[in-house]
Amino acid sequence: MPSHATEIPTADGIRLGVAAVCMAFFTAGACAAPAPRLIVAISVDQFSADLFAAYRPLFRSGLRRLSGGVVYPSGYQSHAGTETCPGHSTILTGDHPARTGIIANDWIDQSVERADKALYCVEDRLQPRSADGRYRVTADNLKVPTLGDRLKARDPASRVVAVAGKDRAAVMLGGHNIDVAWFWDGRAYVTLPQAAAPPPPIVEAVNARAAKLVAQPRMPSLPAACLSRAVAVPVGAASVGTLRKAAAGDYKAFRTSLAFDQATTDIAIGMLRSLRLGRGTSIDLLAIGLSATDYVGHTYGTDGAEMCAQVLSVDGNVGRILAALDATRVPYVVVLTADHGGLDLPERNARRGFLQAARPRDALQPAVIGRQLADEFRLPGPVLYGVGAFGDIYVARELPVSLRAQVLARARDLYLADPQVETVFTAEELAAVPAPTRPVTEWSLAERYRASFDATRSGDLLVVPRPYITPIPLEHGYVASHGSPWNYDRRVPILFYGAGITPFEQSLPVETVDILPTLAALIGLPLAAGEVDGRCLDLDPGPVDSCDAARH
Ligand code: ZN
Repeated sequence: MPSHATEIPTADGIRLGVAAVCMAFFTAGACAAPAPRLIVAISVDQFSADLFAAYRPLFRSGLRRLSGGVVYPSGYQSHAGTETCPGHSTILTGDHPARTGIIANDWIDQSVERADKALYCVEDRLQPRSADGRYRVTADNLKVPTLGDRLKARDPASRVVAVAGKDRAAVMLGGHNIDVAWFWDGRAYVTLPQAAAPPPPIVEAVNARAAKLVAQPRMPSLPAACLSRAVAVPVGAASVGTLRKAAAGDYKAFRTSLAFDQATTDIAIGMLRSLRLGRGTSIDLLAIGLSATDYVGHTYGTDGAEMCAQVLSVDGNVGRILAALDATRVPYVVVLTADHGGLDLPERNARRGFLQAARPRDALQPAVIGRQLADEFRLPGPVLYGVGAFGDIYVARELPVSLRAQVLARARDLYLADPQVETVFTAEELAAVPAPTRPVTEWSLAERYRASFDATRSGDLLVVPRPYITPIPLEHGYVASHGSPWNYDRRVPILFYGAGITPFEQSLPVETVDILPTLAALIGLPLAAGEVDGRCLDLDPGPVDSCDAARH
């Protein structure tokens, strides 16, 4: 048992033993940890279980403190569609995407009046994205309540605050009744609804600092612990693996800089202080989405100097959040996890001997296969829709009913014949798959896709990539990705820390859908049997079962 096993975080960052805490919080009688008044949920975008394991020995700040709490080093985003919006939708709802309805970042809605038919997960489908790319951000596509929604249903005085680098992270963590939201819109942190009112001073200051950094980028410095990872790997005409200075005026580069998560953290801490979260009469929720790790992963891969510097920076930002929480003297609980894992770029994986590592062939794009089908069946107009080469593929709804089954069968055969395709499921097959009863580590591919399947939103075909096939082409400056049903994209750490939590570590395959029922039990929020997909995790290895309240 580690020496900190009886310690809990309290005011001013002082870690007290249980006896001292009893003296501080209780005058007499039974001794128990104070009930949390503030729940803090941190999502680190693309923070895979592999990254957590690889960098754990180097953590010195917040991630080191959380590593001394309850640690599930290999939790699961169980579903197949391992993207940001679905992943975030599981964390505070307790439900897989099949129930949240968030099957992907974008899915096809053939009733949308624009050529690509793609609907973004937090886009208002009644006011679809206009030509200039602006859309109204909404939680309307999320079919279930979040922890924040449940808190406010019980006590309207509970406050729900969401701060994130991405709108979809803020919305999916916060839910339908967010009191305060701030997220980066590509140029500045903005709020919900995108109101004209001037932002508070902390947001103005962060936005001004970001604009200055974009105008006058600095050469990033590489931590000494990352020096050995600074090896250039050629990708096309460029290379990744070593740090470089961004071009002046490059707002996209801001998202891969260490300044991005620092800015999100600054605003989150600013909201914690200015709104006096946890210090009212009700339990509050602060949801924080640190998005830069994902942009670094996409732009540079997961194993270079860039990611090393980024992960160590996350450690520091989480440390600042914990220090700010300590200073409030409020009993708090922190949960930290990720929306999905990630895979390194094919070029570096190929160097390691994974010669099958590749990006999707152009021939797999739905438009290309759709053209072949149109020729074969002598059909006008688009035949297939899809957001990418893999995942949900939709047959055009204008297709004559008499031809539909034949076109679907032929499309399936064309996909199955491709060497990059593992298998193909039809919507009918997935709708008939029973709910899995085995641990998530043992789920079949069909069970993983079933957890991502929504009959009203999913494709007619689900195309499964082979392992180590990166699901996106080399575009928008992205060299690597996630999004597959394979475990490098599904495994994420799940860490609990704070009031009432006794440290332990287990390698059990728990799921991100278990987070909501676990937190609900901690704060006495009732859930009916079967109301959510997840189960309560007992955060006390001793005689006190933290799930008792949930089970009775
Ligand atoms: Zn993500």
